[in-house]
Amino acid sequence: MPGKITMDRALVEIDGDEMTRVLWALIKEKLILPFVDLKTEYYDLSLENRDATDDSVTVESARAIRRLGVGVKCATITSNAARQEEYRLKRLHPSPNATIRAILDGTVFRAPIPVRGISPTVSTWKKPIVIGRHAYGDVYRAAEMKIPGPGRVELVYTQADGRETRTGVADFTGPGIVQGIHNLDDSIRGFARSCFLYALDVKLPVWFAAKDTISKTYDGRFKDIFAEVYEGEFKDRFQTAGLSYFYTLIDDAVARVIRGEGGFLWACKNYDGDVMSDMIASASGSLAMMTSVLVSPSGAVEYEAAHGTVQRHYYRWKKGERTSTNPVALIFAWTGALAKRAELDATPALGDFARRLEAATLRAIEEGEQTGDLARLAVGAPAKILDSWEFVEAVAGRL
Ligand code: NAP
Ligand code: MG
Repeated sequence: MPGKITMDRALVEIDGDEMTRVLWALIKEKLILPFVDLKTEYYDLSLENRDATDDSVTVESARAIRRLGVGVKCATITSNAARQEEYRLKRLHPSPNATIRAILDGTVFRAPIPVRGISPTVSTWKKPIVIGRHAYGDVYRAAEMKIPGPGRVELVYTQADGRETRTGVADFTGPGIVQGIHNLDDSIRGFARSCFLYALDVKLPVWFAAKDTISKTYDGRFKDIFAEVYEGEFKDRFQTAGLSYFYTLIDDAVARVIRGEGGFLWACKNYDGDVMSDMIASASGSLAMMTSVLVSPSGAVEYEAAHGTVQRHYYRWKKGERTSTNPVALIFAWTGALAKRAELDATPALGDFARRLEAATLRAIEEGEQTGDLARLAVGAPAKILDSWEFVEAVAGRL
């Protein structure tokens, strides 16, 4: 074999848990290390090591991504009471993804990986729909109250100097409920910037939708900030790239998404993104065919799979079974990170390798060599169901 492809700068490698940790090592061994002289700064975010380091390893890994600009992350367990017992943890740790997202101040973009032979449920969709979900505020940070009986509810803003501004919410004639939600201009601006930056990167137009006809102040602020950021920082770059920005009402957006052919980045407010990303994911086929990338407003990026650690398969693997767990989203997390490193370092051979690995992966599937989750969805000729190790060999052979 000729010399391996070299890397200029390192990327941040974040290892994780359970079945995805098993596949992580397999992907590196069979699909990357034989071809690339891999340079990574390695962080072990297995639950055991997060516990041993009092979770400082998670914080360090996020700071490393800020420093090096690119990271790739395996799925990790978010601890709960059952996991505390299973792993004899000192304490419950916050979700690593939430910790990393908070440090990078990032937005998560999710996109299906299209492959011939696996068709989306929505027959008009020809191109992927990428969802960008705002990760701060609204109903996820709401204050709520049960109102026991008649009375008046007001919103009160008290300034630093003690001056008050009030507005009435409702005059209750009987029992009811009330909710106060908020957002911050800075967070909305960072979200808008991340969406426009990522769209330029993947060459997609941006759609943003809210309900500013009803919520003139709150949703209106989102609409205005998106317009300001676009006009002020991105319009020229979008026009040069042949891209566009489109604002519409959320109900109109939903109708257009369902009858359209896809091929855009859909920037969603927090709740809309929660709901719509699950709809897009399940209508596109499989969670194992979905990539996820965290983009910070500064441009640092972290690639991962959209699925979790696939716990049920892991327990079967521990008993000696060769499971048919789909490694495609993990492979694409690696190719995304390698291609980004190549772009930032201007090392085209590395970018070319990432594209070849993606092509070899898709060709294996298209030629009927598939893991069980995909074989169940495939149309046309019946596929050969492979276990994860056989599937990775099928990709390696084509690579
Ligand atoms: P999961 O790991 O996404 O798996 C749920 C089910 O989806 C699996 O049992 C499997 O279905 C199917 N599936 C997911 N990925 C697959 C793949 N690559 N190939 C084939 N089938 C796949 O979700 P979970 O079991 O609810 O969560 C397990 C752990 O992951 C939890 O501790 C959670 O905290 C963590 N998690 C981490 C992340 C992250 O780090 N980004 C995200 C979500 C969850 P069948 O069993 O029917 O085959
Ligand atoms: Mg959800």
